[in-house]
Amino acid sequence: MDIHEYQAKELLATRGLRMPRGGLAYSPEQAAYRATEIGGDRWVVKAQVHSGARGKAGGIILCDSDTEVAEAAEKLLGQRLVTAQTGPQGKLINRLYIEETVRIDKELYLGFVLDRKEERIIVIASSAGGMEIEQIAADAPDSMVRASVDPGVGMREFQAREIAFGLGLDGAVIGKTVDTILACYRAFRDFDASMLEINPLVVSGNEVIALDAKMSFDENALFRRPEISELRDKSQEDPRETFASDRGLSYVSLDGDIGCIINGAGLAMATMDMIKIAGGEPANFLDIGGGASPDRVAKSFRAVLADKKVKVILVNIFAGINRCDWVAEGVVKALSEVGVECPLIVRLSGTKVEEGKRILAEKAPTVTVADTLKEAAEAAVAALQSVERNAA
Ligand code: GDP
Ligand code: MN
Repeated sequence: MDIHEYQAKELLATRGLRMPRGGLAYSPEQAAYRATEIGGDRWVVKAQVHSGARGKAGGIILCDSDTEVAEAAEKLLGQRLVTAQTGPQGKLINRLYIEETVRIDKELYLGFVLDRKEERIIVIASSAGGMEIEQIAADAPDSMVRASVDPGVGMREFQAREIAFGLGLDGAVIGKTVDTILACYRAFRDFDASMLEINPLVVSGNEVIALDAKMSFDENALFRRPEISELRDKSQEDPRETFASDRGLSYVSLDGDIGCIINGAGLAMATMDMIKIAGGEPANFLDIGGGASPDRVAKSFRAVLADKKVKVILVNIFAGINRCDWVAEGVVKALSEVGVECPLIVRLSGTKVEEGKRILAEKAPTVTVADTLKEAAEAAVAALQSVERNAA
């Protein structure tokens, strides 16, 4: 789960990170008021969307008066900001963060990620801050400093020191940089983050200040972090994924036209591969999980059909804990209650498969039943081609 910059900054402030003074605004009037409240004569108006690269996309505006702040707010609020990371549909700007400006002597990059392969938190820093990490890796790989944290002992001060020295900083700011790195590590650990990025972290005189902050969280840990769950902003998420997750289903949206209902992530991957081998492209996949009731299966059709790109649906169930008869009942229920207009291919295997197939034959004769995954994928692609022929 992602959160906004201002929310990440609030969390990081509790662990001792230093940042510019700022305030949140939902309207141009409020933005201008925030500027006078903060004081000074120069401010930065920052679009709050779940994306980086806002600066290049016009989502960060420097202003010299409260009138300019109000104008910048007027321009941004209600717009969709399209950045290099959002896709063409962009993300809705429904709030702004107004900050005092800070003199920038040096821009640094500081990032923390969970490396699943190493099973450790990895810290990456660079003296070439301000640009995206991918670009730093391509243009200035020698500037990158790396450390990995042993989960048994946590991050040690000497590691933070090594990073600070590796950035080639002056003695005066080494101590503050070490404090910053350790504060970020504590926040990452204490809030079950999966990613934390300060870009840029700036040296301003003798101070080290976070100008930007990005954090993402491990959704599997949200049950024990209610204060993080509350920070969710659904307007920033793919509405199709929100629809499914609100119903306890896990859904991934893709770019093709074959909707997939499966059980288990492994089977989902295999199904995606088989569709591609057969010459098709998946539109999405929805994982019904284990022990799915007919009702849950019917709901999953609703989620898959909410995606207007879907022209064919492929159901592929390898039932262990699940029951093919329940899945078949769910298919029947979906046909009568949800209204499935498009071709539907079902492949059932495992527990109660004979009952499942009998139910489909009796109550859902329009469904194409396949015995193997290969057959199912080929039938889905063939059905898609005939839909397209008919439309042409
Ligand atoms: P991002 O583009 O989404 O990563 O947003 P950032 O918060 O990193 O802002 C983009 C850029 O705006 C920064 O890299 C800075 O160059 C600039 N910027 C942000 N805040 C300030 C500020 O207080 N003073 C100055 N001079 N530039 C700023
Ligand atoms: Mn940034």
